[in-house]
Amino acid sequence: MTLQTTPEADNGFEALGITGALLKGTLAAGLTTPKPIQTQAIPHYLAGRDVLGIAQTGSGKTAAFALPILTRIVALGAKRRPKCPHALILAPTRELAVQIDEAIRLLSKGMHITTCQVLGGVSRNMQVKRLRDGVDILIATPGRLVDLVREGDVKLDQTRWLVLDEADRMLDMGFINDVKKLARATHPDRQTTLFSATMPDEIEKLAMGLMKDPIRVSVAPQSTTVAEITQGLVKARTKQKRNVLADILRAEGDGPVIIFARTKHGADKVTRQLEQDGFAADVIHGNKSQNARQRALNGFRDGSVKILVATDIAARGIDVPGISLVVNYDLPDEPETYVHRIGRTGRNGLGGKSVTLCDPEEVSKLRAVEKVIRKAIPLVADHTGQPDPFQKPLPAGSRPERSERQGRPQGKPQGRPARSGQAPQRAGGKPAGAHHEAGRADERNGQPRRRRRRGNGGGAAKAA
Ligand code: AMP
Repeated sequence: MTLQTTPEADNGFEALGITGALLKGTLAAGLTTPKPIQTQAIPHYLAGRDVLGIAQTGSGKTAAFALPILTRIVALGAKRRPKCPHALILAPTRELAVQIDEAIRLLSKGMHITTCQVLGGVSRNMQVKRLRDGVDILIATPGRLVDLVREGDVKLDQTRWLVLDEADRMLDMGFINDVKKLARATHPDRQTTLFSATMPDEIEKLAMGLMKDPIRVSVAPQSTTVAEITQGLVKARTKQKRNVLADILRAEGDGPVIIFARTKHGADKVTRQLEQDGFAADVIHGNKSQNARQRALNGFRDGSVKILVATDIAARGIDVPGISLVVNYDLPDEPETYVHRIGRTGRNGLGGKSVTLCDPEEVSKLRAVEKVIRKAIPLVADHTGQPDPFQKPLPAGSRPERSERQGRPQGKPQGRPARSGQAPQRAGGKPAGAHHEAGRADERNGQPRRRRRRGNGGGAAKAA
C-alpha cells in the first residue's frame, strides 16, 4: 500500500518524534495518521520506557514498536557485529514473524537497516549465514532461536531492544520458558516491549519479571467492532456444505475470500472440492511446509490466489487487506475464534461480510458464538428442512427479534427463503479480532505442541 504524497507531508508521526528517513518510511508504508496504539506508545518508547500493551493484530502495534526501535538504532549509530543483533522481536508464528519483517523493511527502506528471520521449518544455513554477516533486527520464533543461541550462532548479550509480540499466544503455544530464556540472554539494560491481546495473570507475571516500570497502553478490544461486519448464517447439513459454498462463491464473484475450516484434514478436503468445482484455491495449515504456506499467502496477498482455505492457527495474525468475504465452513471450537475469523474482513474501514455454514450438529457452537457477540447471526438461507435444532432460545437478554433471526428486515413482508448463494449485503466495517484459539502449532514441525486452554470445546489438536 503506497500513499501518493510528498515526503514532506505531515501525517502526524513527526509530532510523535519520528523524523527524517523514517518519516518518509511511514508515508511509503501508507501509514496515514497515527493509530491510537501508536500515539500512546511511541513517545514513551522513544523516551526509553518499557511498554506493556494490550492490542491485537490490526491495531497498528507493529509500527508502534518498529518505529521507535528503528529510531533508536539509527541514533545509536553502532556498527553491526556478527551474530549480535541490536534488536530482537519474538513472535509466536512464522507467518507473523514474516509479516513483521516485511513491515519493518517497508518502514526502513533506504535506511541501510538489515533484518533477519530465524524461523522453524526452514533451512537454518541461510539464517546462520545472515547472522554472521551482522543484522540490526532479528525477528524470530522462539523454538528455533533457542537452538541457535545454544549452538552459539546468535549472541544476544548486545541486544538492547526486546519485543514480545502476541505474548498470550506464545504462552498458549508453550513457548514461555523459551521466551524467558531468550530474554535473560539479552543485555541487562535492554528496553522491553510486550504486546498481548489479553492480559491473563501469567502474562502479567511474565511482564513484571522482564520489564522495568512499564508504561501501560491499551486499545479497545476489536470484538466491539464486529457489529460493523455484515454477518449471515446459512443452515446446511455437512453433506450440503460443498454445494452451498460453491453457490456462495459464484454469487460473491471475485474475492479475495478466506474460508475457515476447523481441521487441517477438513481444510485440505474443502480445497480439493473447490478445485473439482472449478475454483482456484490454495490452503494454509500447520502440516504444510513453511515454503508452501508462504507461497499460498503471497499468492493471496498479490491477488493471484482469490480463495484461501485456512485453519485458525495458520491464519492467525495474518493481515491481508481487502478481504471481501469470510466463510466459516465449520463453526470454531472456541466461540471467540469466530470474532477473530470474521475480523479478517472489513479492515481499514472497507466493507466486509461473513457467512457461517452451520449443520444442526453444530448448533451448540453457534449458540456459544452468539453469546460472545451478543446477537444472533441473521439467517440468510436454510437448506436443512428441519429447523428444530436451531430453535433453542438464546440466554435471557440476548434474544433477538424474530425478524432478525430470520434475516428479514423488520416490517417487511416475508418472502421466499433465500437462495443458498445469497450472502449478506456489503456494509462498512472496521477491523475485528479476538485472541483465543483452539490449538497451537509447533513452529519447528508444524505439529501441535503443549497446549494450554482457556476456553472450552474439543478437537483442538487437529485444528492446527
Ligand atoms: P498491525 O496491527 O501492526 O498488524 O497493523 C495492521 C495494519 O494496519 C497493517 O496493514 C498496517 O500497514 C496498517 N497500519 C498500521 N498503522 C497504520 C496507520 N497509522 N495508518 C494506516 N494504516 C496503518
